Amino acid sequence: PSSKLPHVGTTIFTTIGQLAREHDAINLSQGFPNFDPDPALLELVSEAFKKSHNQYAPMQGVLSLREAISEKIERLHGRYYHPESEITVTAGATQAIFTTIAAFVRQNDEVIVIEPAFDCYEPAISLFGGKIVPLPLEGNDFKMNWSAFKSAISPKTKMVIINTPHNPTGTIWSESDMLQLQEILRDTNIILLSDEVYEHIVFDGKAHESASKYPDLATRSFICCSFGKTFHATGWKVGYCAAPKSLMLEFQKVHQFNVFSVNHAMQVALAEYLKDPQHYVNLGAFYQEKRDSFLTAIKDSRFKMIPSGGTYFQLLEYSDITDEKDTAFAEHLIKEHQLASIPVSVFCTGPYDKKFLRFCFAKTDAVLEKASEILNSI
Ligand code: GLN
Repeated sequence: PSSKLPHVGTTIFTTIGQLAREHDAINLSQGFPNFDPDPALLELVSEAFKKSHNQYAPMQGVLSLREAISEKIERLHGRYYHPESEITVTAGATQAIFTTIAAFVRQNDEVIVIEPAFDCYEPAISLFGGKIVPLPLEGNDFKMNWSAFKSAISPKTKMVIINTPHNPTGTIWSESDMLQLQEILRDTNIILLSDEVYEHIVFDGKAHESASKYPDLATRSFICCSFGKTFHATGWKVGYCAAPKSLMLEFQKVHQFNVFSVNHAMQVALAEYLKDPQHYVNLGAFYQEKRDSFLTAIKDSRFKMIPSGGTYFQLLEYSDITDEKDTAFAEHLIKEHQLASIPVSVFCTGPYDKKFLRFCFAKTDAVLEKASEILNSI
């Protein structure tokens, strides 16, 4: 049979992960912490299993978890999402993103994607016959060009996907970015898919700018978030999305036949744990310390760096070392230096010749020290 996704191969996270294992490399490629969640959360999970939450959860998610999510968003961003009709718990943010695209994108609809972009957006858009309209971030500091964005909008634009804090560049959008976005989308019917999975990992005293904070964005937005990133539990695959009722209704039409519902016991535990803001408000400071010690350790290396503004990723620029394409250089680092990273070109559908690799610093100090030694030796 002919492929529905002829241009799609295996995701970089699987291929690089495998190569890293084959070469026994230190793995700073796929974004996940190499340490465990808070023991208090693990205890809540084991209690939840014992209390026999072992059958299907409600389709939209456990109500107490949706209530805790609603309270959190309202406290942080000032917008109320009704727990009964405006929040869905998903199998990770990736499912929330996929389901949003599935629910709205039709044949020949255009979807504006700001590149580099996380690799799950494009295949989902293509699968439903949508056309990706890539908009490149500019310069080595990956700045948004708002007039180019405005020109990219056409009568066929169905959706715009944004991501702040941004994977892979570690840039964050300011209030002024959000206001410009709001202004450009005003008086359109464009849906905004806002990937906010790194919402709590923002550095240097800045604030996360959620689309939910901007009334004219919020009414058109799906806010997609991840407990994996926030609670060091990427393997649990639990996330959520929030959207106004009429949009969420369409989302749930797909969600119910896609996954139906998500891991029940995990949701019960997360509902309890999420109630205490202390469990996530210090995450930025926690990762900022890791960013800083990593960058200090490699400051005399031949890599160039602009400190990450958010996420647990740091880009390193290597043009002083080699002219090689990033995919070749990433492979070289794994095979010859036993250090794995992600080449940034894999996050682009269009031509891309910048020289950046992405390193995940959600790792213990010992691992970051070893990685730094390698980077200093190159
Ligand atoms: N978000 C993770 C990253 O960027 C990867 C998740 C995945 O492998 N799908 O590294």
